[in-house]
Amino acid sequence: MGAHEGKCPPVEACAQSSAGAYLGTVVRFTSKSNTRNYPPVGQCIYCRTREEPLKREHIVPLGLGGTHVLPKASCECCERITGRLEGYCLQHMWGALRGRAGFPSRKMNKRPKTVAVSVEHFDGSSGLIDVPVEDYPAMLGLPVFPAARVLKQLPDEPNAPVPGARWWMWYEEDKLRDFALRHGVRKVHSQNIRPDVFSRMLVKIAHAKAVSEIGVDGFTPYGVDFILRGSAGMNYLVGCWANQEEPEMEHAYHVTGIREHPRTPMILIDVRLFAGLGAPTYHVVVGTKNAT
Ligand SMILES: [Zn+2]
Repeated sequence: MGAHEGKCPPVEACAQSSAGAYLGTVVRFTSKSNTRNYPPVGQCIYCRTREEPLKREHIVPLGLGGTHVLPKASCECCERITGRLEGYCLQHMWGALRGRAGFPSRKMNKRPKTVAVSVEHFDGSSGLIDVPVEDYPAMLGLPVFPAARVLKQLPDEPNAPVPGARWWMWYEEDKLRDFALRHGVRKVHSQNIRPDVFSRMLVKIAHAKAVSEIGVDGFTPYGVDFILRGSAGMNYLVGCWANQEEPEMEHAYHVTGIREHPRTPMILIDVRLFAGLGAPTYHVVVGTKNAT
């Protein structure tokens, strides 16, 4: 497998941001982005075993249009765990949306033709109705967290609700209304969302991104236990900046960038999935930078 450079259009980095300057290029991925293989890591980026077989790791899952790959970067054991995380997000949270939005799939021809939509009827009862994928009133809900607790030197609070968290929602209003009228239902629910699982997947993406930028020995990671075992609060390493402007980025699947925190040795990765829909940007504190 030869390494080959992708041609991802760089986006102007915002150097004045309170979050610190970007270290590398901010990368915007689109459906036209090429595959980029980084040099093989030669060890599992999670548990650090060097024992073969080591598998390739997509930084952003392929099913979300991720085209950047770390070869020889995950042992089979860790791959099973991260695979489950991604599977949950891609199938249970966004399966229908990805079908509608035309995201790539490993099994393009096996993609379901219908979607079970959870609805509330006028008599107050709930149920599922099967509709063709093209009829699905696409919806996306994502949690908006306050800034990561570790940045504010707040203690971790696993299993506690996140104070100040809210939901960001995207949906096609006309389609939704039309759908409800046609099927005679009062409400249409989005797919199940698990903010804790979503948060773990964001940390996984950010961790792999940091390895691609500064190497597996370039930082002391904070997120491995959280990725593998969920052993932290969902807002401990992941957050959103208050009043952050979220420009609409047409045709962009997702955007990633790496920053150095201005007042601490912490390394932050920005992850914005579904950028084309105007979804929130998350910062993930991946660890502290190692002295070189
Ligand atoms: Zn491993």
